[in-house]
Amino acid sequence: MKVSKFGGSSVASGEQIRKVFDIVQSDPERRVVVVSAPGKRFSDDVKTTDLLIALAEKYLKNGEAKAELEAVIARYREIAETLELDKEIVNEIELDFKERLALSDDPERFLDCIKAGGEDNNAKLIARYFQREGVAATYVNPKEAGLLVSDEVGNAQVLPESYDRLYELRNKQEIIIFPGFFGYSPEGNLVTFPRGGSDISGAILAAALKADLYENFTDVDSVYAVNPNIVNHPKEITELTYKEMRELSYAGFGVFHEEALAPAFRAGIPVCVKNTNNPLAPGTMIVAERKLNGDPVVGIASDDGFLNIYVEKYLMNREIGFGRKLLQIFEEEGLSYEHTPSGIDSLNVILRADQLTEDKEARLIDRIETELHTDKVKIERNIALIMIVGEAMNQTIGVAAKAVTAIQNANVNIAMINQGSSEVSMMFGVKEADVEKAVKSIYEAFFG
Ligand code: ASP
Repeated sequence: MKVSKFGGSSVASGEQIRKVFDIVQSDPERRVVVVSAPGKRFSDDVKTTDLLIALAEKYLKNGEAKAELEAVIARYREIAETLELDKEIVNEIELDFKERLALSDDPERFLDCIKAGGEDNNAKLIARYFQREGVAATYVNPKEAGLLVSDEVGNAQVLPESYDRLYELRNKQEIIIFPGFFGYSPEGNLVTFPRGGSDISGAILAAALKADLYENFTDVDSVYAVNPNIVNHPKEITELTYKEMRELSYAGFGVFHEEALAPAFRAGIPVCVKNTNNPLAPGTMIVAERKLNGDPVVGIASDDGFLNIYVEKYLMNREIGFGRKLLQIFEEEGLSYEHTPSGIDSLNVILRADQLTEDKEARLIDRIETELHTDKVKIERNIALIMIVGEAMNQTIGVAAKAVTAIQNANVNIAMINQGSSEVSMMFGVKEADVEKAVKSIYEAFFG
């Protein structure tokens, strides 16, 4: 059996939902369908999830948000009309959102509850459509199915006991329509995954149900070797390993949520990224192992929004415990770090910049200077990371030389280089303003 997840653009309109129906109907193995909230219908459109966040914020501030609620309901109304569904479903959806709005005591939980309504109501609507078309389909709620998650608002993580509970869904005869993006804590609170988290729900279900394949339907034919907004018509990737996909999605390959791979990877379930608008295209397979075809690099990813905290102290290499003490300060300040390239007397701690508020920054620097008696502490902002990824890199001589030459040819200064011993990826830090030039040049060098 297959678990098939359909992302926001695949369920953004009645026309798209008809495609989903045809895709599911064309293969009897497609037994579990995980859906997002209605996403963008065109490039400037607003996702329902963003409409819902605006709705929740306005409601918390003003105690009413009529226009925002109407904007949300209008999305479902349009879908229901296109699919010629009974008006009743739209009334039910409106009532559901009104009930959610009544629960505004705890602002954070409120936001999660409103956001989750996007997928929950879409799943109910889609199930209704399947039934109207004469297909045995049923909406399943994550609570009833036993999708248990940690109680971290907006940042849930699946709890291991979910897997056995969810396995019971295999006994259902009907096609299951399951809302993505949220689960319930053991105390019964609704909690959402991070943004884009329906991918995670799908992967959890695929792992729990021991599916033969997890299909992730989106709006591109495949995963591309580089961001198509940077390079026109880049090479399509037909096959990737979990490790390679993990590295690429970490550094900005938005096609698949970076946390979604873990459940599939642990359960050894292959993943296929496919296009709802072109379902006959083979898509990209993500598997445990692939035959290496001689190309050292499969993809080049890049992401901005990083900063580097540079710490210098003479004879740092002789001081036992320096690294631990430094990282402990980060831990105590609630900051997670990404990389720590180091020299003999220096250590760089690279962070996602959005974590560091102004007062946190001042305290952090002060603590490093006073507690570790450093010679110099400096913050470098606007750093972008470029990841060059490929399992075959460790069997190929000269990959680094080729990449460095390409960056040099683009006249870009490299601020940092990091290569883990696994050699699945090589990381370069550059100024954000230079990242596109550098990526184009690297792409040209390896794929041009
Ligand atoms: N609708 C949610 C979001 O936009 C989750 C998802 O679509 O995966 O983040």
